[in-house]
Amino acid sequence: MRTRHKPWAKEKLAQFPQYVIQDPVSHKGSWAEVFHNENPLHIEVGTGKGSFITGMAKAHPDINYIGIELSESVIVAALDKIVEEELPNIKLMNLNAADLEECFAKGDVDRVYLNFSDPWPKTRHEKRRLTYKDFLKIYENILPDKGEIHFKTDNQGLFEYSLSSLSRYGMTLTFVSLDLHNSDFEGNIMTEYEKKFSERGQRIYRLEAHFN
Ligand code: SAM
Repeated sequence: MRTRHKPWAKEKLAQFPQYVIQDPVSHKGSWAEVFHNENPLHIEVGTGKGSFITGMAKAHPDINYIGIELSESVIVAALDKIVEEELPNIKLMNLNAADLEECFAKGDVDRVYLNFSDPWPKTRHEKRRLTYKDFLKIYENILPDKGEIHFKTDNQGLFEYSLSSLSRYGMTLTFVSLDLHNSDFEGNIMTEYEKKFSERGQRIYRLEAHFN
């Protein structure tokens, strides 16, 4: 995501502890305490500016959501949306997905969303793709048995790679759309990238899969 570096972002994230989890490792195994309920927890990895996760939290008040984003300069835009909406069932975390297991125990997370993940098209960068096998292992370790991943992208190369990576890992694909916006899928909430690319006429790919 092309965003200007915002030197003040870190300080702003610290000013909203009710929305931005400040010490995620300390909540490992006890996320119900953070949300004050036992509702399921869904996370979006690489949440960007937060349109999707905020829209989902509004549409599904009985589910807790955490948007996880590497870049503090990007996640502050998601924070602005959350502050404006005052939603009780959404939080943000400024974290690298590689460190998810430090914050979540097996079964803490009920679903992982990956939306428009960076494609890293060069073969030598395969390990950075969020659907690379090492990341799948991390998701498997924080989800319950048969835990689900839901993935959307405009990038055909990344979609094909992900279909193959998830299958090779032994996951079961339960839903695959090669043209989401012209399918009968209901309840789609668009991300910033999805809006931008679909307005340019680009096709959106989507899949759901679970671990075995
Ligand atoms: N999901 C948003 C959307 O669809 O509009 C943002 C898509 S943007 C292409 C990908 C986002 O993933 C960027 O904001 C990037 O900083 C974040 N990201 C990339 N690698 C990550 C990682 N390892 N952990 C957490 N976030 C990551």
